[in-house]
Amino acid sequence: MLTTIIYRSHFCDNVPYKALEEMVTAANEKNSHGGVTGILLFNGTHFFQLLEGPQESVTTIYRHICEDDRHYNVVELLRDYSPSRRFGKAGMELFDLREHDRDEVLQVVLDKGTSKYQLIYDDRALQFFRTFVEAREKENYFEIPAGDSWDFISDGNTVLPQDSKRDLTADCSFAFQPTIDPLAQEIVSLEALLRTTDGASPQAFFGSLSGDALYQADLHSKKVAFEMAAALNLGEQTLTVNLQPMTLVNVPDAVRFLLTEIEVNGLVPEQIIVDFTESEIISRLDEFTDAVRQLKAAGIRVAIDHFGAGFAGLSLLAQFQPDRIKINRDLIKDVHKSGPRQAIIQAIIKCCTSLEISITAVGVEKAEEWMWLESAGISMFQGHLFAKPALGAIPAVFWPEKKSNF
Ligand code: C2E
Ligand code: MN
Repeated sequence: MLTTIIYRSHFCDNVPYKALEEMVTAANEKNSHGGVTGILLFNGTHFFQLLEGPQESVTTIYRHICEDDRHYNVVELLRDYSPSRRFGKAGMELFDLREHDRDEVLQVVLDKGTSKYQLIYDDRALQFFRTFVEAREKENYFEIPAGDSWDFISDGNTVLPQDSKRDLTADCSFAFQPTIDPLAQEIVSLEALLRTTDGASPQAFFGSLSGDALYQADLHSKKVAFEMAAALNLGEQTLTVNLQPMTLVNVPDAVRFLLTEIEVNGLVPEQIIVDFTESEIISRLDEFTDAVRQLKAAGIRVAIDHFGAGFAGLSLLAQFQPDRIKINRDLIKDVHKSGPRQAIIQAIIKCCTSLEISITAVGVEKAEEWMWLESAGISMFQGHLFAKPALGAIPAVFWPEKKSNF
């Protein structure tokens, strides 16, 4: 299948331009073996390259390109399939935008096209060319430093439960994981993640349950979460718990149950955030929205979890506005390398900024992911990069510290 990849990257300042020409000649050799053609634009700082050819060759060559240390911040902008090549001349042409007049440069590039049909204006690939040549998206290029320019240093502050009065007959347990603001060096909240008594995942806990039994178990597990949090001496720390939306709708007096358990454990509603995790469509949206109103009226804040994945989408934001949304690892993963993920996250940020909804990025594993998200304007993070969930305890946090030689 004829595959197209377009990427943008940043040229390393310490590589001479001459080396670039040699690199292209060498690459041409390799590309022509794999039947890969295309064009490489250079504007003095950035590369913009289109690769076309058989799927396997294009992806292999692209993988090698990503590993090349003569450029960095490689961002894949497009991966698409088409009936014919746009730039079918043998090999890969290097095209230096600086040698051309700004007004005519796009046309000169397009004249290189070999498409049987004229390059058409609604072709996405062509629109990417326009945008690059006209430097229209530049404010969205975040030049992040290399991942190893930061150290992540543990504060050693593991907190274990203070007393053993915890209910040992409980049928579930919780792991705790902080959400942090790394640059302010602050723990923003602590999330209680459901576990079986021997520490297995929420799926394992819910495994055999369905219908009412599942909703009951979900709600009643929060009693254990509040007890365990109290034993960890939370003070004024914010505590986040997860609920399925339909738990609030299906279990009578669910909100009252939560409020009672919060109070019994010496906590206050204002320090609680409820994350709504949607694993099924909210079929009774009006009743759900009503339950959310009750929570908010009591002082509890709400967040939409896994935002952008599955059902937790924009239409839910139209129905009610949470205090916070959490963007899931599905979108966070390798965001520094992915144009589509960057565009979606920037749109989410814009939307939430207009609505004064704060954003947390969840599942951050790489320093580069974190740095890109910070550059985009996100300041709250949860993920293994900073702290892994700890069963029945508050884990130590690994705070970023800039290395002195960077
Ligand atoms: P969530 O609320 O988004 O919680 C974060 C999940 O991501 C947790 O998985 C956590 O262990 C995992 N995680 C955190 N950092 C990283 C990371 O850097 N990389 C990766 N790969 N994963 C990371 P966990 O504990 O398995 O929970 C999965 C989901 O189960 C939760 O996602 C939440 O939606 C749901 N859940 C957890 N507790 C409850 C609960 O009490 N009730 C209900 N209904 N759902 C719950
Ligand atoms: Mn959550």
